[in-house]
Amino acid sequence: MRKLVYLMMISLLLSCSSNLDKAEKAITDSGLSKHIAVLASDDFGGRMPCTENEKKTLEYIESQMKSIGLEPLFGDSYLQEVPLVEIKGKSYSPIKIKGKTKLSFNVLEDYSAMSKITRKDIDLKDLEMVFVGYGINAPELGWNDYAGVDVKDKVVVCLVNDPGFLTKNKDFFGGKSMTYYGRWTYKYEEAARQGAKAVFIIHRTDMAGYPWAVPRRKSEGSIFCIDDAVSLNSTCDVEGWFSRKSANKLFKSLGYNLENIWLEACKSGFKSFDMQVNLSMSMSKDTKHSKSYNIAGKITGKEKPEEALIYMGHWDHLGIKKDSKGIKIYNGASDNAAGVAWVLEIAKAFKEMPSPKRTIVFINPTVEEAGLLGSYYFVDHCPFKHENIICGINTDVLPFVGKFKDITITGYGQSNLDKYLSDEAKRVGRYVAADPTPENGMFFRSDHFPYMKKGIPCLFAKGMQEHVSKPKDWMAKYMDMYWKKIYHKPTDIFDPNTADVSGITEDARLIFRLGYKIANSDIRPKWNEKSEFARLRKE
Ligand SMILES: [Zn+2]
Repeated sequence: MRKLVYLMMISLLLSCSSNLDKAEKAITDSGLSKHIAVLASDDFGGRMPCTENEKKTLEYIESQMKSIGLEPLFGDSYLQEVPLVEIKGKSYSPIKIKGKTKLSFNVLEDYSAMSKITRKDIDLKDLEMVFVGYGINAPELGWNDYAGVDVKDKVVVCLVNDPGFLTKNKDFFGGKSMTYYGRWTYKYEEAARQGAKAVFIIHRTDMAGYPWAVPRRKSEGSIFCIDDAVSLNSTCDVEGWFSRKSANKLFKSLGYNLENIWLEACKSGFKSFDMQVNLSMSMSKDTKHSKSYNIAGKITGKEKPEEALIYMGHWDHLGIKKDSKGIKIYNGASDNAAGVAWVLEIAKAFKEMPSPKRTIVFINPTVEEAGLLGSYYFVDHCPFKHENIICGINTDVLPFVGKFKDITITGYGQSNLDKYLSDEAKRVGRYVAADPTPENGMFFRSDHFPYMKKGIPCLFAKGMQEHVSKPKDWMAKYMDMYWKKIYHKPTDIFDPNTADVSGITEDARLIFRLGYKIANSDIRPKWNEKSEFARLRKE
């Protein structure tokens, strides 16, 4: 009898894995290529939110979700409206600093700033300035740059990145790989939590990972925000940057050497201080209200429909822009027409299998490119309780160069999803690797991140380091070229004659199986203890 049960279990397991073998074949190069070719065509105009091209994109995705047989996620609709407001700085006064010294900073050259406050005009008058080192409050690390200073209604000035970068000690704030505490978004959020009226981050190219031209844009272009009171009124009135040069000037005139402070502020004995100067500035802005849509389908779980695993890949890109050479379409083929295709193909494979125990969501969020807003909105207006979201699996920026030996995890070491993925990868002779350039902060710059901030473990993984048939350093060179010449440029196109999507097919098959396994089990992926997100998960 026992032998019979044993044999039945073995045959059940084998049939499940042979079913999975069959189901994963639903994910094909031609299926992926078809979606990418449509979504990245000139006809879709670079998929800019709030345009006619959004409508076209959503219609295409919805028709695919329907034909795959996904149920709509939002009642009887696949669409979730995301209210947006576009804010554009119209005029900026110089920043006047008075007190122990007297300085004037000009916008773009010396500082940049933006305001998410819905009031039209912003006027900061003689606000005290406080320097708070790296601007970090991390109880789990016993670190608080705000200890001993009062920043309420004042101007916070802090350094970009975190104290790990310059110490190069990988056990201290992750060493050269940036923790969340190093991100500018974190610093703005923390300053607001501390009650500051305005916050300025001191830029430094090697620490930020990008030149002054990037933060400078804050005052040049416009920003999108989620148009609800909670999102708009939980920020400081002004969020800005000081250039390294202007900050050096300011600190020097106060009797400090800023070059030393970058290092001093890495030490636990460092004390934040009142700068004994006051800041004044004003700005006016234009606001325009609009809306865009997340699109999502689901397969309802058989046993625990209230628990969900979420596959995601943003649909939006940068649209059409005019430059000195004329009108350019930013087709966004690898970023992220390929990601949408990846989600749809994985959904197709799931439909080849019996519905798993838990619900599977397939979502293509909007406005990723302008700050992950679709995903932020979704997690705040979600049909599932956060503690019931078992995990999220995201993809973004997929190269068209063929197959890989690796599967690289951006954000390696955060959760035991690394281990589950590694088991799956081994089965097909691949290996898991960590992101070779974590310092560029990609981990914080795609759709999984809003989920992580709610304590939901997520995986962001793809082949990208070791090509199956090229020399070992070939991919590093390719990716270097990609970041410089293709990423967020009109050159991110899909040419079916040269593009090789077979690596994306392999990734999608692997990640389909991983998701199926988790969704059909009681596995609850867990944060690693040292992760800065671990304390956010309510178990
Ligand atoms: Zn992207």
